Amino acid sequence: MKTIKFNGESALPAIGQGTWYMGENAAQRGQEVAALQAGLDHGLKVIDTAEMYAEGGAEDVVGEALRGRRDQAWLVSKVYPWNAGEVDAFEACERSLRRLQTDYLDLYLLHWRGNVPLEETIRAMQSLQQQGKIRHWGVSNFDHDDMLELWNEPGGNACVTNQVLYHLASRGIEYDLLPLCQQREVPVMAYCPLAQAGRLRQALFEDGQLQQIAQQKGISVAQVMLAWVIRQKGVLAIPKASSVAHVQQNAAALTIDLTHEELAIIDRAFPAPQHKTALDVV
Ligand code: NDP
Repeated sequence: MKTIKFNGESALPAIGQGTWYMGENAAQRGQEVAALQAGLDHGLKVIDTAEMYAEGGAEDVVGEALRGRRDQAWLVSKVYPWNAGEVDAFEACERSLRRLQTDYLDLYLLHWRGNVPLEETIRAMQSLQQQGKIRHWGVSNFDHDDMLELWNEPGGNACVTNQVLYHLASRGIEYDLLPLCQQREVPVMAYCPLAQAGRLRQALFEDGQLQQIAQQKGISVAQVMLAWVIRQKGVLAIPKASSVAHVQQNAAALTIDLTHEELAIIDRAFPAPQHKTALDVV
């Protein structure tokens, strides 16, 4: 099984669970809770959420799913950039903890860069750590130069991850950001590993070459995409699934290896970047 380590912690399965769009619809809540719990049963320990998702609604769903089993999860939430100052971050974190029905986060991320100076956000993260409210902190949607800037700030080296968009049809981070993070041993959390829902995802699921690889291995295209994302060291995928069947497939992808030939087919169909491109975001 592929695993990942944050800051020398014990190894975690390299596939976790996303939660964007959970908590939007009361009628789906039971199914979402059941899917997250099934994920935990299958060892998908890392659960990624944010105060932004359903304006706290996704954190509520996660809180319900974790009732009585908080210690089985490695819990990640994110702060809005405009809440990432010293006073606001404390209050935002308190609200997230209340909704999540826990007294600590394993990881707290700055959701994207905003107007609060990085040094102030680092100080806020440090005080939350000292208060025991968060164990680690990191960033999201930071490009190559943002990471260099962060590491130059006092305390910036304590950042344990950068969460960015990455899937086989969006490989921009492979040009410079991913190698930089790998070199510094900062794991990358890959969001949208299944290209979300929508036209692009549909086109990938219908792609003849991906379908052929999937058929030959007796797996789904989604599993090919996840196995591809976690094929390299230091990358964790956080697919969101709101059905138990999807969660089971996603967990099974932890042990799927793509052969050199299969990787070469994917490289030809979805080439690695040859030059710098703007960081892809949603
Ligand atoms: P994903 O790429 O994870 O795609 C989610 C879609 O894939 C859903 O429609 C889901 O359907 C479907 N799906 C899941 N598993 C399978 C499967 N095995 N077979 C077929 N379809 C499947 O997109 P997300 O945008 O949700 O990204 C993942 C997570 O990353 C988010 O939920 C969030 O936690 C995080 N994120 C972070 C961002 C950031 O700025 N830091 C930005 C965007 C996302 P269903 O729900 O019906 O199971």
